[in-house]
Amino acid sequence: MRSAGRLRILEAVPLAKLGWLVHGFSTRPGGASKIPSADAAQSRGGAKARADVLNLGYTDWDSPAHVAKNRKQFFHALRADGFRPVTLRQIHSDAALRADLQPDSAGDPPSGDALFTCRPGFLLAVQTADCVPILLADTKQRAIAAVHAGWRGTLRRIAEKTIGRMRMEFGTRPEDVIAALGPGIGRCCYEVGSEVAREFHARFPHAREWFDGPFDALAAGESDPNWLPWLTMKPPGHAPPSPRVHLDLIAANRAILGEAGVPVRQIFCSDYCTACRTDLFFSYRREHQTGRAIAAIGLLP
Ligand SMILES: [Zn+2]
Repeated sequence: MRSAGRLRILEAVPLAKLGWLVHGFSTRPGGASKIPSADAAQSRGGAKARADVLNLGYTDWDSPAHVAKNRKQFFHALRADGFRPVTLRQIHSDAALRADLQPDSAGDPPSGDALFTCRPGFLLAVQTADCVPILLADTKQRAIAAVHAGWRGTLRRIAEKTIGRMRMEFGTRPEDVIAALGPGIGRCCYEVGSEVAREFHARFPHAREWFDGPFDALAAGESDPNWLPWLTMKPPGHAPPSPRVHLDLIAANRAILGEAGVPVRQIFCSDYCTACRTDLFFSYRREHQTGRAIAAIGLLP
C-alpha cells in the first residue's frame, strides 16, 4: 500500500517492479464523494466510513462530477495521466475485449468483463465492490489484462479465457504471466446458496476446496442433514432456513489460473476481505449502497 496525496494505492510488488507498466488497486479513503446511507456509517470504521471516499463508479447515489474528479485523481496517482482509460459495462460474463480496438466514444462503454492489450497508452480499468479484480502481465510479449471475476465470471473461467485470448492475439505463454488478485470478498464473509454450490460442483472437480459449510450435501441437492425435521422435531410449516456455504473466490481464481498454466509462484493474492475492511474498501454485500473500486493497468510508451 502506498500513499499518493490523500489516496492510498494498493500495488502488487512483482508488477510494480516491471518498469514498463503502471498499475494499481484503488482503496476507499480520500476522494470527493460521501456515501449517504446509514449502513455505511454503521460499518466498521464508523466515522471513517462516513468520510470522503474515492468512489470510482457511476452509482445512482453519487454525482457524475464527483466520480469524474475521483477517477482523474486516481489515474494521476497511478502516473497514468496521458493514458486513455478503457472501462466496461460489466455483465458477469466471460467476454474479454481487446482494449485498443474499442471505439473512443463518450457514450456507453462496451459490455464485457475483461480487457487486454499489447499497445501502450491504454489504461485498462475494471470496477469492483466485492468481486475479485485480476491484473495480468505477460512479461515476454509485454501484453496486459484486467479482469472482473465475481462468482459467475469465475464459474465461466474468465481469467483462463482472457489468457487464451492473449495467446491467440499476441502469442502469450501462460508460464510468462504474472497474475495479481486484488481485494475481494473473503471466504469469511461470502455466503452463497445451494445453486452456486451446485454450479461449481458441476464444473470443477476440486470445487469442494473453495467452500466452507455443507458443500457436499448442497452440491448433491440435499438439505443440510442437521435440519432434517425428524432430528429437529420441528412441526410442519416451520421450514428451516436453507443451508448456506461460504465461497472463496480468490482460491477459485488462483486454481483456475494455475490450471491455465500460470506458475503458482507467479500468482499473487491480496489478503484483504472487502466486507471485513469497509474502512479501506467498498463492499456491496456488507453495505449495499456503496462505492466502486477500480483495478487498472496500462503499458508505458
Ligand atoms: Zn471477511
